[in-house]
Amino acid sequence: MSFVNTPAFDSYRLRLAAGKESCVERTEHYLTVIHQRSALNAFLSVFENEALEEAHRVDQKIKRGTAGPLAGMVVAVKDVLCMKGKRTTCASKMLEKYEAIYDATVIERLRAADAVIIGKTNMDEFAMGSSNENSAFGPVKHPLDETRVPGGSSGGSCVAVAAGMSTTALGSDTGGSIRQPAGLCGMFGLKPTYGRVSRYGLVAFASSFDQIGPFANSARDVAHVLQVIAGYDERDSTSANVPVPGYLGAMNRNVRGLKIGIPKEYFTDALNSEIRSAIEKQIHRLKSSGAEVVEVSLPHSEYTIATYYILATAEASSNLARYDGARYGYRAQGARDLSEMYTKSRSEGFGTEVKRRIMLGTYVLSAGYYDAYYRKAQKVRRLIQNDFLDAFKKADCLITPISPTTAFRLGEKLEDPLQMYLNDIYTVSANLAGIPGISVPAGKDHQGLPVGMQILGKHFDEETLLRVADFLEAA
Ligand code: GLN
Repeated sequence: MSFVNTPAFDSYRLRLAAGKESCVERTEHYLTVIHQRSALNAFLSVFENEALEEAHRVDQKIKRGTAGPLAGMVVAVKDVLCMKGKRTTCASKMLEKYEAIYDATVIERLRAADAVIIGKTNMDEFAMGSSNENSAFGPVKHPLDETRVPGGSSGGSCVAVAAGMSTTALGSDTGGSIRQPAGLCGMFGLKPTYGRVSRYGLVAFASSFDQIGPFANSARDVAHVLQVIAGYDERDSTSANVPVPGYLGAMNRNVRGLKIGIPKEYFTDALNSEIRSAIEKQIHRLKSSGAEVVEVSLPHSEYTIATYYILATAEASSNLARYDGARYGYRAQGARDLSEMYTKSRSEGFGTEVKRRIMLGTYVLSAGYYDAYYRKAQKVRRLIQNDFLDAFKKADCLITPISPTTAFRLGEKLEDPLQMYLNDIYTVSANLAGIPGISVPAGKDHQGLPVGMQILGKHFDEETLLRVADFLEAA
């Protein structure tokens, strides 16, 4: 499905072990592509020298036979993850000059596994957006058509892999920011169960929704990365102390007897017919290989967008209160007193969408409206979660669309925030419920643009998602 020739990590690892290629050569190749395709604007920083030095160290380890499980993998990282001594901008003017003072847990784990980190990727400011047009450093472009969006907010990470600038990448997903760009670019992208991957060192957008996850060209490569980054971390109080299974072992290319649920509320007439028929084809494949397909209902689906945009903005307004120009971040010049310094710094440091979210969130949390909006939305969140728990009594996983359309044009939805929010209709529910979801390529539309499909699973059952994704990829 991928449009570039990035070898699957399994085969590439064999080439490395046999001395047919080196990690340095692979890293050099990616650096060349990053330069060649700089118009895509996927990276905010590239660690040219360090990545090559690191790759050299990895090659030595491979020769000595002491290399870790990700030796040879070159990873791009969304600029919302802290890397010690490196700029961590969240694509915001507010953090343009901020250098992280510690490594996120996922970064530590990638390094310990001998992955090479090649750079940090562009994104929607503070991960708010669905098109990657909200970056203070310009939009990311779709690798197949530069007049179109790649999706967001992890657009840079997705494009890094899709355009062959890295083997895999890390993104974050609060309401679809891994799955939606993966869908629009024909990639695999996994949002793990809430609590599966440590958020330590991830700059918070909406803390009860955020999860870190991988982008890759294949389900197996997703599994390789997840294997390394998943697992308990005492530095994140919401990290779950749940055993991490061997993900690659579960990918047996067999779906016989698996119960696949189709939520009827996700396949209404509103769904683009090309997307529907691409997904139906995949469902048919599963069925003819012995999976059982059952209809399920998620009756509160119509409330997911409203619930998400109340709760996520509420949490964002609270998380973003720390950027006040005093402790860190951008400070405006020329203020006459403290209050003016706060106001000017925040007005100048944040972009339009971030300000819109702070205002919405502050509003729904304010004394007069808390019960009507925030408290009500918390209750609906529970109902949405219960819908999934009920559906999973009948099915092992669910299949849904990822987004209502394929990649849209730059600027098309920028003037209409509600249209942009509605793009998230199929993805936010997984974050409201805390369940895992994966994007799988499902074909192309008549313009040759990728169509994605989403598989949703039970809490902590990433195994089934990877197994089905890998099956469809092989089929
Ligand atoms: N598009 C959604 C939003 O703007 C989701 C973003 C995300 O997952 N980070 O809130």
